[in-house]
Amino acid sequence: MTIIIQGAMDSELDVLTEYFVPRKTKTIAGYDFYISSYNGNDIILSKTGVGLINASVATVVGINEFRPALVINQGCAGGHVPDIKNGELIIGEKSVYINNFYTNPKGIGEGSNSLDWYPCKRSYVVPSTPEYVKLADGIGFDGKKRVGILGSGDLFSKEIDRINYMHGLFGELCEDMESVAALKVCDAFGVNRLALRIISNNEITLEEFDYGVCKTLQKFVIALVDKIIGA
Ligand code: SAH
Repeated sequence: MTIIIQGAMDSELDVLTEYFVPRKTKTIAGYDFYISSYNGNDIILSKTGVGLINASVATVVGINEFRPALVINQGCAGGHVPDIKNGELIIGEKSVYINNFYTNPKGIGEGSNSLDWYPCKRSYVVPSTPEYVKLADGIGFDGKKRVGILGSGDLFSKEIDRINYMHGLFGELCEDMESVAALKVCDAFGVNRLALRIISNNEITLEEFDYGVCKTLQKFVIALVDKIIGA
């Protein structure tokens, strides 16, 4: 089978490129794909770039070019609840688009208050494919792991009141900038999908950004791929 594994940044793909050694690299519309053969399967590592638009385009291009049976969107995220720490794994049962807001009207000099913004009705939630959520949940992980809701948007929130406000609206455990876009595109094309996030920072507890956790997630993804293909 063909599996696309996405990462937004090099730090989210370095362990994977060492393991699934590319026999070929293809750049399409500026998006890099590292193509490898693994026990009779095609594993395509896709560097999406950061943000929803990059993730959308890279997912469209990847699906169109490689016709995968599964897309795994994986990477780091910031915690949106106080009891979540760096290195914890969230298996995304779904991802919510968390920056699709209407503002209330305010006049000149009245400023702005993001705590009275309200979600646009066209906002959406996209599930991962349940079968793959279950499979991922069955893989051993050296650390805390939960199945939960990912929050996703083009924002890096550091305001605790607003993080709490969004958590109250959407129930997300963490915030990233790609997962909902990747899941949405897969859904549109009828492709199986799974979003995974490892906590790299928490702006509520002020735990600082640690890119190192991405390596732990990538090792988990390798174990997951082995399980999926029955290696
Ligand atoms: N150095 C990068 C940005 C890194 S942070 C740059 O300058 O472009 C943003 C990336 O990390 C995104 O890919 C996002 O998915 C993830 N991320 C980690 N913590 C996040 C947070 N608290 N909020 C939003 N995205 C976060």
